[in-house]
Amino acid sequence: MIEGSDEILFCEETPDAPSSQRGWRVLIVDDEIDVHQTTVFAMRGLQVLGRPIEFLHAYSAAEARTVLIAEKDIAVTLLDVVMEDVDAGLSLVRNIRETLGLHELRIVLRTGQPGYAPEMDIIRDYDINDYKTKSELTRIKLYTTLTAAIRSYNQLHTIAASRRGLDLIVRGSAKLMAERGINEFASGVITQITGLLGLPPEGLIIARRNDSEPLSTDSLRIVAAAGRYAGLLNQPLTCVDDAEARELLMRCLSEESSVFGASRTALLLGSSVGIVMAAYLDSADPIGETDRQLIEVFCSNIAVCLENLDLFSQLSVSAYVDPLLKLPNRTRLVQEIDHRKRKIGGEEEILILLDLDHFSETNEALGHHYGDRILRAVGARLSERFASPVLVARVHGDTFGLLGPLSRLKYHDVTELFQEPFDLDDSEQMISATFGSVLIFESAGDGSETIKCASIALKRAKANGRGSVARYDREMGIEVQERVRLLRNLRSAFQHDRLFLCYQPQIELATGRIIGAEALIRWKTESGELIPPDRFIAIAEYSGLIVDIGQWVLRNACHRQTCLEKAGFTGFRMAVNVSIAQFRHPQFIDVLKQALADTEINPAQLELEITESMAMLEPDYVIGVIRTVKTLGVSVAVDDFGTGFSSLSYLQRLDVDRLKIDRGFVNAIRSPGQTTECIAQTVIQLGRNLGLTVIAEGVETEAQARLLKQMGCHEAQGYLFARPMDSADLTPWLEARRDTGCPVDD
Ligand code: C2E
Ligand code: CA
Ligand code: CA
Repeated sequence: MIEGSDEILFCEETPDAPSSQRGWRVLIVDDEIDVHQTTVFAMRGLQVLGRPIEFLHAYSAAEARTVLIAEKDIAVTLLDVVMEDVDAGLSLVRNIRETLGLHELRIVLRTGQPGYAPEMDIIRDYDINDYKTKSELTRIKLYTTLTAAIRSYNQLHTIAASRRGLDLIVRGSAKLMAERGINEFASGVITQITGLLGLPPEGLIIARRNDSEPLSTDSLRIVAAAGRYAGLLNQPLTCVDDAEARELLMRCLSEESSVFGASRTALLLGSSVGIVMAAYLDSADPIGETDRQLIEVFCSNIAVCLENLDLFSQLSVSAYVDPLLKLPNRTRLVQEIDHRKRKIGGEEEILILLDLDHFSETNEALGHHYGDRILRAVGARLSERFASPVLVARVHGDTFGLLGPLSRLKYHDVTELFQEPFDLDDSEQMISATFGSVLIFESAGDGSETIKCASIALKRAKANGRGSVARYDREMGIEVQERVRLLRNLRSAFQHDRLFLCYQPQIELATGRIIGAEALIRWKTESGELIPPDRFIAIAEYSGLIVDIGQWVLRNACHRQTCLEKAGFTGFRMAVNVSIAQFRHPQFIDVLKQALADTEINPAQLELEITESMAMLEPDYVIGVIRTVKTLGVSVAVDDFGTGFSSLSYLQRLDVDRLKIDRGFVNAIRSPGQTTECIAQTVIQLGRNLGLTVIAEGVETEAQARLLKQMGCHEAQGYLFARPMDSADLTPWLEARRDTGCPVDD
């Protein structure tokens, strides 16, 4: 990201370069700073037609207007559809063409969601070059899109003198944009080209897929035919009896460029996309230079048209249908809820979300094909059982949605479907599911809000145990609002440095030596209130914010360790809690390496704590990451040990260094001889047998410490020795115990 911003500065500070060397000016209009940065970053160092790209930036439609008035020669604008309001982008487009009269400027629309496809009329009327969803814009796609747009701009610009041509091209390609279907499109192309050249509408077009088998006359199909060629539509190229025409078309495709003969022409139409087309025309006279340029512009526009043709057909089908199950998808469900909400009167409608239990485990254990079979079987049974007006949809992953009138959609009928085993081609399997529902009129907002409410109920149901059923009520919504508020505050607290770390010392029981500390996060609000991590860590995990917060914790804790080391507390171990979201993050190892390098901590003095339940989530993955962590010299502890269900063999495979006995077991050690004490004893023994160091947390009394020591527990941490302290208190605390430590009597 930092590199991205450098780039912006670099680009904007070179406006005085000679004009032939000057970059193509591309204006990014988007209200998300990220999009600017990633775009600039993606195009770094790339050139189009031998010239670099120079980016200009606007963060709203209003700002874009100012830039467009002040700046000259902007070739392309990459324009966000949704900014200040849902059609800020489109009104800007209107403004660009109508008020500002910028006709050469090429417009590439970008949108976050596929659902926001602009209307065909808008694309046509405002001569929009291209339309992409942001997720589609990979580096390569972005480059191709920009190249096509810049090339088109360049050509438009060069021949701007010829108003006739310009008008024709703009109107012509816009018209083509609106056409659907390859045949219709191709015949439109013939009409347009011959119209441009003032020729009778006569010619043919062949097409092939870019990636298909080697070029040969019989693999090529005629997709448009006009005039005396009309009868050849949908025939292979071999049916054209004019050998010279065939040869010209083949040359055009194999050389990937248009061929202008004396009285015949083969034009290459779009080669950057899935389909390549070539058009053949007879012309009594050779085509002149100006007309050639005109035609070239037109043809390069067609590349974009073709790509859009593809995009539109994709949008209309896949926008509403789940590709795997061929069921309506989430977008379609949202649309239908909206529709039914608008209906006045009629019966109360309910949305039931149904989530398959343990699907991800099954998927992982038995493979995706097996998972797909389960999904198909469930989808099939649901659609067999429920017909219109009930809508069966796949919302995402293993979550299905059922929408319909209360009388047609009874819980009982839905749950009953899971009483019978499902047929999976060669086997039968019982599948259970958890359900969450909402009455659609009880949820405020639009269809996606309704789905959200049902998911809240679903989560509640899951918390009550798999296989259960929960119905949304307003209380749940308030809970969510509260969480949203908390998350917003947490984010701001993180940005404004209101998070800090406390450190709780750890003691070696045999010697009383202070061996290290665990870093624990603290949040102090502006009003001075301390919010405990138990209240915000889960939200940070849920929202993904934990990844950034965790990185910050890691770096700070490592830094603290090196400070202590320098202050003479040598060999002090720093334990840092790492949550699964962090652990699972693809950059985790890099983040860890960077923290080690930047803080110069001795890796042997760092320990990562992962909870037992987390280690159980994705065994193989976790085992792999732990292995990598250990190759860096960093050690790993299993936190809250005893609360998960890890088997001995799994623990062995985990290859960790330390087990941290959960507070609950320590807490239970009150009176000797109780069964709880036995559990603590067993856990310690288990750890010792595996050759691991065992540490007890939450040690509050002398008696507990003494018993733990007798049981063979190696280390301890708890209020008995010290509460977590901030760094200012930690140093004097350590200083005062430099010689004595915290001895525990036998
Ligand atoms: P944990 O990792 O099990 O941390 C131990 C918790 O027990 C700490 O609560 C600590 O203050 C508390 N504790 C220590 N000694 C005693 C004692 O003698 N008696 C009692 N009753 N409690 C004791 P804290 O600091 O509120 O942290 C709660 C949890 O929040 C932690 O549990 C950990 O899961 C999470 N957490 C804290 N900091 C971080 C962090 O930086 N990253 C992540 N991912 N999680 C963190
Ligand atoms: Ca911990
Ligand atoms: Ca713990």
